[in-house]
Amino acid sequence: MNRHFTCEDIFRLLSGYIDNELDTLMREIVEEHIKECERCLSLLHTIEKTIAISRETHRKKKVPKKVVNRVYYELRIRYKR
Ligand SMILES: [Zn+2]
Repeated sequence: MNRHFTCEDIFRLLSGYIDNELDTLMREIVEEHIKECERCLSLLHTIEKTIAISRETHRKKKVPKKVVNRVYYELRIRYKR
């Protein structure tokens, strides 16, 4: 591993991380990063919380992609500050 991952990279991986769609290597990259980056860690928590709430609202196991995408869109704006 000789590539440095930025918060932008992690941000892009978070969606797959939450959905369990990343391979082991990618998961490790995310986990290593959030261990040392509070910004990405709190971002992950925010996304997870939002998904949990929307899961209850929709009473479904799977949150509609539309909802998830909106969360990402809003977070992305905040992230860019
Ligand atoms: Zn970060």
